[in-house]
Amino acid sequence: MHSTTESTYYEQIDSMNNNLPSSTMNYLASTWLLHKEKFVSAWLDGVRHYGHISSSRVEGAHAVLKRWIEVSTGNLLVVHTTIEQACSDQLAAIRQQVAYDRSRADLGYGSVFAPTMGKISVHVLKSAHKEYELSRNGTLDVCRGMLTSNFGYPCVHRFQVLAAGNAVLSISDFDSHWWLQQPSRGVVAVSKSPTFSELLCNIQATYNVQHPTGKESCLN
Ligand SMILES: [Zn+2]
Repeated sequence: MHSTTESTYYEQIDSMNNNLPSSTMNYLASTWLLHKEKFVSAWLDGVRHYGHISSSRVEGAHAVLKRWIEVSTGNLLVVHTTIEQACSDQLAAIRQQVAYDRSRADLGYGSVFAPTMGKISVHVLKSAHKEYELSRNGTLDVCRGMLTSNFGYPCVHRFQVLAAGNAVLSISDFDSHWWLQQPSRGVVAVSKSPTFSELLCNIQATYNVQHPTGKESCLN
């Protein structure tokens, strides 16, 4: 999975062929490796997957939902209510995490990171800081752009460029996925339950524009 070039990938496959039973290799070949373009690094250049290259996140979400639903015999209303509770529970946890991240005004990462403090997820700032540390330790390979294209945060090479220009990070160095305040996507209408008189007004408005036969069915 971590082969960064096709030739490394095929070398690894050769080595596995020499070391694993053929039944195992047959299983891998017919079940997983035919999808190699979806999860082996060599084919993921330019694919922004934020580190999710397995199905565990989806399986985790499924397991959470099943924990809330508990039994397989609930009626539709019970299931609907339970799913709604599961979602609002997760949303509350996410909001709490974002509020916590926004309050972390200083992680001790220095002036290069200053413009991103409280604006970018702490989880990814930690990963970016590891790249920053690497950038201060001597010579590096040529940048293939994989890290930034896959994960959406600055790689060691970006930090070298910043250091050379005596510059600092900006939030645009990070994919908006990692921003604690999401860019505006337009106003989302929050639906609230209409009052009884609003409902009556709606019925009246519909009734008024009906043909006489339609008025009767409208009242029904
Ligand atoms: Zn790089």
